[in-house]
Amino acid sequence: MAGEAQSDCLFCRIVAGEIPATVVRRTERTLAFRDIAPKAPVHVLVIPHAHYPDAARLAAAEPEIAGELLAEAGRVAEDEGISDYRLIFNTGAGAGQTVFHAHVHVLGGTPMTERMI
Ligand code: 5GP
Repeated sequence: MAGEAQSDCLFCRIVAGEIPATVVRRTERTLAFRDIAPKAPVHVLVIPHAHYPDAARLAAAEPEIAGELLAEAGRVAEDEGISDYRLIFNTGAGAGQTVFHAHVHVLGGTPMTERMI
């Protein structure tokens, strides 16, 4: 069923607590944790608990949760004390997506002048 946890999905397993992560924010429907290979001083991933392969499919199926993802990304930036940051949704392997569970990268803490990810 759409949105159901997938046992072979890394981020579903992080949501379930089966794989450790440095969690910075958690809500009923979203989780924010530090990227394991940070590309900037602040590099946090915000994900829905529900499994959707990418952000567009999340937004199509659950627009409210997609909105929460953006709101949480803003709160992460605020918590981290950064006002300038970049939000990235890699969509598809050809665009650099490697984990097929919807997520937004929150990147900042350094001048964002170049492609970073
Ligand atoms: P994508 O390339 O799909 O847009 O982003 C996936 C991100 O997940 C990458 O930036 C990668 O470093 C991060 N990542 C991969 N495995 C893990 C992990 O086990 N823990 C955490 N915290 N991040 C991970």
